[in-house]
Amino acid sequence: MPERIYNFSPGPATLPVEVLEQASEDIVNFRNKGIGLIELSHRSREFMEVAEEAGALIRELMSVPDNYRILFLQGGASTQFAMVPLNLLAPDRKGTYLNTGTWAKKAIKEAKNIANVQVAYSSEETSFDHVPSDTDYSVDDDSEYLYFVSNNTIYGTQFSKFPKSGKMLVSDMSSDILSRQFDISPFGLIFAGAQKNMGPAGVTVVIIRDDLLDRAPDNLPTMFRYRTHADKDSMFNTPPCFAIYVVGLVAKWLKKLGGVKKIEEINREKAAILYDFLDSTDFYRGHARKDSRSIMNVTFNLPTPELEARFIAEASARGLDGLKGHRSIGGCRASIYNAFPRQGVLELVDFMKEFEKRNG
Ligand SMILES: *Cc1c(COP(=O)(O)O)cnc(C)c1O
Repeated sequence: MPERIYNFSPGPATLPVEVLEQASEDIVNFRNKGIGLIELSHRSREFMEVAEEAGALIRELMSVPDNYRILFLQGGASTQFAMVPLNLLAPDRKGTYLNTGTWAKKAIKEAKNIANVQVAYSSEETSFDHVPSDTDYSVDDDSEYLYFVSNNTIYGTQFSKFPKSGKMLVSDMSSDILSRQFDISPFGLIFAGAQKNMGPAGVTVVIIRDDLLDRAPDNLPTMFRYRTHADKDSMFNTPPCFAIYVVGLVAKWLKKLGGVKKIEEINREKAAILYDFLDSTDFYRGHARKDSRSIMNVTFNLPTPELEARFIAEASARGLDGLKGHRSIGGCRASIYNAFPRQGVLELVDFMKEFEKRNG
């Protein structure tokens, strides 16, 4: 096997190499049972155990209380943009949204087709370079929930503190779930596509408070109802077996490492290495406002788009791959999720210094 490159891709993203190795064995011969993992019936005892264990590990790692369900769904995080209002808002009810980037905007667009929407804040005018603090907006009294994207993958911004509005919180945590500790009790619902910080593409984890399972109108199609999936332990239909299995392996890896508390320390330290360097030079400019900086996606620009293109190409030739920023804002982005090694961050900073010397 060739040496592994450093993969700064925003998603699908780096996974722990021991997870990949275990999966490659199990695909052919699952736990030495003479059958491949992706050949197993989802109703088999073997697979039921895999799914149960994955759910239990997520519950343990995030300290999810008993009155929340953990669901494994399909359709990506994007399907949740509609499923959330379809299930939680009657057509005459209102949800409040914070517009902090593309993923928030897409959720707002879907919600507007379904119910009333208050957009209480937008950072669009400044290219989504920050997230609001509690005093920057107010939530309508008659709103059912406050929806926000905890980490804005494209812009490299993150809520360092979650909104406090008295309303039930709903959050898209696709790009920072399992990266830091927090209290789940103000949340009604959290969802995350697995492919950024939790596993491969194909499964979306939804954590939903019990009492919200029965809010959906009677005519909502079966597959779109959270209740359907909660009642059948995410096996109403064939679930994404392989993706669930890998999420379980990643969760096991994280637990062995010391859990969310430990990974948060590691994540903060990794991000600080990059931000400290960005703050020490004028050649590179961070996109996110300092008070909104993400510890998962670090976005920055070089003096010109030409230099950015050369930087990305030269970095890639050295095994520092996936640094191109999202097409909507350009520039560069280093995604340094849980499984991204600290050594890769050090090597990126070395390369950035050297590139600046040659081109600064
Ligand atoms: C990637 C991403 C999405 C989209 O996820 P899909 O699974 O591709 O639908 C949604 N929200 C956030 C914050 C993301 O980073």
